[in-house]
Amino acid sequence: MTEKVGVLGKKPQRPQRRTGVERVVNAPLPTVYGKFQAVGYLDHDRGDEQVALVYGDIGTDEVLVRLHSECLTGDAFGSQHCECGDQLASALRAVVAEGAGVVVYLRGHEGRGIGLLGKLRAMALQAEGLDTVEANLALGFPVDARDYGVAAGVLQDLGVRSVRLMSNNPRKREALVRHGIQVAEQVPLLIPPCENNITYLRTKRERLDHHLPHLDAVAHLS
Ligand SMILES: [Zn+2]
Repeated sequence: MTEKVGVLGKKPQRPQRRTGVERVVNAPLPTVYGKFQAVGYLDHDRGDEQVALVYGDIGTDEVLVRLHSECLTGDAFGSQHCECGDQLASALRAVVAEGAGVVVYLRGHEGRGIGLLGKLRAMALQAEGLDTVEANLALGFPVDARDYGVAAGVLQDLGVRSVRLMSNNPRKREALVRHGIQVAEQVPLLIPPCENNITYLRTKRERLDHHLPHLDAVAHLS
């Protein structure tokens, strides 16, 4: 692409492009779990709108935190294909029970970052017998395309230096640390499996290294 040149041969002045996340709004959000503050952010790098639900006086260290990857089917429709909806509800309940904490809801993370339609296509392949990893690969997608830079930016804006991370996924921990947030502890978020998601959960454990020790107790589910 050629640069536009102004009439006097000078490059026109361009407004400096913002990068990173910008806090745009704070709004009270009463929920069935408790009264949160919804803090809205604009991610200038990707153009996404993001939101963090903050409960209580969170402080700076060892803050109870969930980085929840958006999952429309699980979070809104109660899908049993995955355990996302239950994990989100558990995380919100845990933060309220603790008296303080943050749930960062990460948009753009559908299907481990392949988009809603990509995820539905992967689910169609899983119905034919592929596992969640094979399905992503068969569609030409990476196994996990999620980026956690935004989550780290949001936590930094909220003044959080170290977290107790509610997650079974070692990659989330590694990604946060890489982006400058300390992880003091990884808190398991174990949802009892059901017939519809046991294969998916076993794949997460066996192929994606998720820490899911409770699956041992449900050998009877096929
Ligand atoms: Zn899900």
